[in-house]
Amino acid sequence: MRADLILARGRIRTLGRSGLNPHTHLAVAGGQVLACGGREVMGLRGPRTRIVDLAGAAVLPGFNDAHAHVVYYGLTRFGADLSGATGIDDILERLKDHARGLKPGEWQQGMGYRTDELVERRQPHRTELDRVTGDRPAFIDERGGHARVANSAALAAAAITTETPNPQGGRIGRDLNRAPNGLLLESAMRLVADVQPPPSLDRRVDGVLKAQELLVSRGITSVGAAVNRGFADDLRAYERLAQDGRLTIRVNEFLSWELLEAASSLGVRAGFGGPLVRAGPIKVFIDGGAERVAMRSGGGVWRTTRDELRELVSRATASGLQVAAHAIGDAAIEAMCDAVEGGGGTDLRHRVEHCTICPPDLQARMARLGMVAVMQPMAARFGRVASAIFFPVRDRTHLAPHRGLLKAGVPVTFSSDLPVSADPNPWPGIRVAVEDQVNGISLLAALRAYTSAGAFASFEESIKGTLEPGMLADLQIYRGDPLDDEGVNWEELRPRVVLLGGVRVFGSFSGR
Ligand SMILES: [Zn+2]
Repeated sequence: MRADLILARGRIRTLGRSGLNPHTHLAVAGGQVLACGGREVMGLRGPRTRIVDLAGAAVLPGFNDAHAHVVYYGLTRFGADLSGATGIDDILERLKDHARGLKPGEWQQGMGYRTDELVERRQPHRTELDRVTGDRPAFIDERGGHARVANSAALAAAAITTETPNPQGGRIGRDLNRAPNGLLLESAMRLVADVQPPPSLDRRVDGVLKAQELLVSRGITSVGAAVNRGFADDLRAYERLAQDGRLTIRVNEFLSWELLEAASSLGVRAGFGGPLVRAGPIKVFIDGGAERVAMRSGGGVWRTTRDELRELVSRATASGLQVAAHAIGDAAIEAMCDAVEGGGGTDLRHRVEHCTICPPDLQARMARLGMVAVMQPMAARFGRVASAIFFPVRDRTHLAPHRGLLKAGVPVTFSSDLPVSADPNPWPGIRVAVEDQVNGISLLAALRAYTSAGAFASFEESIKGTLEPGMLADLQIYRGDPLDDEGVNWEELRPRVVLLGGVRVFGSFSGR
């Protein structure tokens, strides 16, 4: 067999058995790695082989961002961008500008602000939103995705009144006279989202394209597409792009817990789908975000009760489906361990999404139950600052415990949780995970958490995640060698070229 492409004279790190030791040459044929080694790889050259001289440039497997809200991020690109808003007036100004592009009666959405960045240090009131939105239904989301403020028209559309009770795992903000003030926390956010007309398939497709453009430009060739709601339409959007040849990233689509029955009766099983689009992990929320995480020491919000969780994990396990459970606090992680233990499915690689406060006893249990930790390495930085407020001192050593989990034998997978982190660039997180004074891990372990571990979490470790022969040629080429350069700005680091199955999906070989 002759090579379609040979990358020559580079620093090619497979992240497989040879770890970080660089090879100089890599050959691609039929979308897969044909060989990786030294000059002898040139022997695979044929009459139509393209040779690219890397001149010392580094090559790595494409990143796998195992948890990013692809469609949600994409759709917010059509909403008002509130990131970096400095105060409520700033938010209102941006909503006013954005509304100029909307049709009469069309719902307005905004996202990206954070209360602690507003001079007022509080959420806006619905009547403040009303001043600029009038009777157009509108809501705005805080960057973490766990708090929303709706205007009066959106509350009316959802029939939320003084009498409306708080839903399980959520809270409706109220004035002193008990009238709703617009704030909707956690599962209460859905009260307005459920009555908003769903975006069209075309809109979803356009949203995916926007998200894909960003992800691929960061060297990400595989993504776990996290969901908040049970739209089966998301899957159609990916499928349509795949059919049209416009999907340039491999997608592992989560299915919201409401779709468990449907998925199971259709015969969807863990690892369902092909190498481009697959579906399967059933997404469920156990606790909330920020100060609403469920801790053993008490407090927090339970979006799914322990009993409901046990029932859901058992049903999923009996159907051969993997579960991806949002669990940040130790009580929530413990509840997931209990549910997996009760369900008896230790070969389904049940996932704990976030896994932020995980003490040694739970690390050991997760290992024993064959579970996977899907984490955001930046939590090691933000978490330690926030933990001073949210968590008792004794919980802080078990925050973002990458090292402990790996030592216990739990596969640790990294992800961005886009748009919770506004930029999915994996490099800053990799640096934080390596440099963390408390739970730091090696560079190789951090890179594997962003490559082969993600493939393991989606049952694809035999086809991707390293650049060993036979693996999909999903790879990224850099300018020079960032791993060998002291002066790299990790925030700005971007690949020069990205290949998916040997096909260029970002950058150009000739461009500088
Ligand atoms: Zn998420």
